[in-house]
Amino acid sequence: MQKVALVTGASRGIGHAIAAELSSEGWAVCINYFTHTQEAETLAEQLCQKGHAAIAVQADVSDRAQVSRMVRLCEQQLGPVELLVNNAGISTAGLFQDVDDAGWDRMLAVNLTGARNACMEVLPHMISEKRGCIVNISSIWGLRGASCEVAYACTKAAIVGLTRSLALELAPSGIRVNCVAPGCIDTDMVKMLGDETRSMLIEQTPMGRLGTPEDIAHAVSYFASEKASFVTGQVLAADGGFIV
Ligand code: NAP
Repeated sequence: MQKVALVTGASRGIGHAIAAELSSEGWAVCINYFTHTQEAETLAEQLCQKGHAAIAVQADVSDRAQVSRMVRLCEQQLGPVELLVNNAGISTAGLFQDVDDAGWDRMLAVNLTGARNACMEVLPHMISEKRGCIVNISSIWGLRGASCEVAYACTKAAIVGLTRSLALELAPSGIRVNCVAPGCIDTDMVKMLGDETRSMLIEQTPMGRLGTPEDIAHAVSYFASEKASFVTGQVLAADGGFIV
């Protein structure tokens, strides 16, 4: 039986690349999405056509009941989750004082509570098996702070705290928890900042380019692999040298 990975926010961008890479490495993949049904289902079909088990499941990660339903569906159709990748995320740009209560709450609900919800739903099985792996997606902005993305940066810093604390709590249960902090990656999230900001980010990246979603998928794949069997609580910045 194939090992099962659940990747949140896998309809587009980084999550899409992570799901594809894990699938090519032999994982059965549960592709979570929120609004982009077609993209998620197309990815699942493509992976199935290559002979790999994959399903697409809609759930808003901020809603515990929806996450619970998704994990149960995954267990029924693929098997229990052995690898959870908390990738789903949203971002907005604007001054701190211009973010209203609803915007602040939504950012925390998706980027932080979403990861917590998924952990809560997969951990009972992982703990009972004394085996499992969680990879959280933070951001360089969570490591160094970000003007005009304060709420986003707060959630991404919290993801680092979640990673380190959970890693300590779960190490005796045989579960590893690590984190990838992407730099500026060529996805819709960066495109929506506009061409001028995009060019500025390229200039600020020592390697002189945006990262690809696959650059991040490779880092996730390492943490998920046996090669990282003694690695937990770590944050790997995959950022072309941005925060060196
Ligand atoms: P993206 O292209 O905007 O894709 C975001 C993904 O998250 C989509 O699949 C989206 O699903 C999903 N999503 C959003 N809200 C969700 C919700 N409530 N429930 C479930 N899924 C939800 O973003 P990306 O650039 O690939 O970013 C992926 C992760 O990397 C995020 O955590 C982001 O913060 C982090 N990151 C990105 C960069 C970057 O430069 N791109 C840098 C650092 C960190 P639908 O499309 O189906 O709604």
